[in-house]
Amino acid sequence: MSESLRTVDIIAAKRDGRELSEGQIAAFIKGYADGSIPDYQAAAWCMATFLNGMTPTETGYLTRAMIDSGEVIDLSGLTGPFVDKHSTGGVGDKISLVLAPIAAACGVRVPMMSGRALGHTGGTLDKLESIPGYTTALEPDRFARIVDEVGFAMTGQSERVVPADRKMYALRDVIASVESIPLITASILSKKFAEGADALVMDVKCGSGAFMKTADDARDLAQSLVRTGESLDRRVVAVLTDMSEPLGRMVGNFLEVEESVACLKGEGPPDVMDVTLRLTAWMLIAAGLETDVEAAEDRCRRAVEDGSALEKFRRNVASQGGDLEELDRMLGTARARFSREVPAGSGGFVTGIDAFAVGMAGVSLGVGRDTAADPVEALAGIEMLRKTGEPVDAEAAVMRLWAEDEARLDAAAERLENAVRIGEAAPESRGSLILEEIAGG
Ligand code: URA
Repeated sequence: MSESLRTVDIIAAKRDGRELSEGQIAAFIKGYADGSIPDYQAAAWCMATFLNGMTPTETGYLTRAMIDSGEVIDLSGLTGPFVDKHSTGGVGDKISLVLAPIAAACGVRVPMMSGRALGHTGGTLDKLESIPGYTTALEPDRFARIVDEVGFAMTGQSERVVPADRKMYALRDVIASVESIPLITASILSKKFAEGADALVMDVKCGSGAFMKTADDARDLAQSLVRTGESLDRRVVAVLTDMSEPLGRMVGNFLEVEESVACLKGEGPPDVMDVTLRLTAWMLIAAGLETDVEAAEDRCRRAVEDGSALEKFRRNVASQGGDLEELDRMLGTARARFSREVPAGSGGFVTGIDAFAVGMAGVSLGVGRDTAADPVEALAGIEMLRKTGEPVDAEAAVMRLWAEDEARLDAAAERLENAVRIGEAAPESRGSLILEEIAGG
C-alpha cells in the first residue's frame, strides 16, 4: 500500500484498485473540502472509486473523514440515546412523519434531519412545510430543545455539517457516479452521525420507485451501512422494504401530511403501517428500550391506539411554529385548484402500479423537483383510488390528480399512461413489505 499523500498518487492508487490508507483518505477529503483539491481531481477519484469500489475498512475511513470535514452537533447535554431513521427514498414515503411521533411516544429521542424532494422521490421537509407556519429551519439550540421537550424535532441538514458531502454529492451527480455503494454509505452515515445520532435505522428501499432497483443491490447497500456503522462503533439496523408501488394512497406534500395524521389516528393504510411499525420497533431496540422486535412493535401499536403518538405529533407541530387550527381545517379539504381523474381504461383487477412513473407524475404536478432550485406546490398531488389487488371497472378512475394549473395535469396524465397494470385475475397478495432485516450488533 502506497502511503504517498500527493493527490495524484491517491487517485492513481484508487485507479489501480489498491487499498487506501486512513491518512490518504483523510488528506483527500480534507483537501477537497477546503478547496485545495479541485473538482477535476475529485471527479477522477470518485470515478475510480465508483469503478473499483472500496474495502469495508476504506469505507469506514471515508465516513470518518467526511464527519471530520465539518461541525458535529453535540447533544451530549441532553438525555439520549438518540436514534434517527433514514430512508433511501421512495414514492409516497411519509414514514418519517408517522414514525418519529410513535418513537417519541415510546421514549426514544429522535433528532431527525431530513431532505427535500429530488427527482421522483419526495422530501420530508417539503411535506412538513405544507403545514402553515411550520418551519424546518431550526437553529441548533432550538432543535435540541424541541428534541428534549417533545421527543423529536425535524430539520434540514446544516450548511456546516459534512461540507465535504455537500460538494461531493453535487459533483457525483454530474459525473454519473452516484450509484456507488461505498460513496453512498459514507455520504449517508457521515451526515447522520455528525448530526448527533447514536444509532440509526435505515429503510433501504428496493423496486421501481427506489434508488436500488433490485433486492441484491439493496442488500449490498444495507450490509455496507451496517458494517460501516460497526466500524464507527454505532449501531445501524437496515431493513429492506419493497418500493415497487407507492406507499399508501397519497403522493403529495400536504396530501401525505393528511395521510400521516390518519395513520396516527389509527386509520392508516396497511402498507404504510406495516413498514412504519417495523422500523419504529427497531428504533426502540436500537435505543435499548426493548430487546424483542415483536414486543417492540406491539408497544408502537399501543402508542397509536392510546393517542399518545398523535399527541406528540401535535406538540411537535406547535413547537415548530405550525398552526394546528389551520391544519385541522385543511384535513380532507385543502387541495390544489385543478383536478382530473385518470381512467382505468379496462376492467379487472389492478395487478401493479409503477412507483417510478407515479413519482415522475408527481414532479410534473409540482410535488417534487427536477432540480434542487425548483419550488414545490403544497397542495398538488395524486390520490390512488385503486391499489394493487383491488377490482376496477373500465370506466372507473384509478387515480385523482391535483395541480395549480391545467398544463401540469396534462403532463402528469401523460406520464401515467401505462403506470397502472390491469389484469383479468386478482394478483397474489403482496404480503408484508418487509423483505429482510439486518440488525447490526
Ligand atoms: N443519498 C445520500 O445522502 N447520499 C448519496 O450518496 C445517495 C443518496
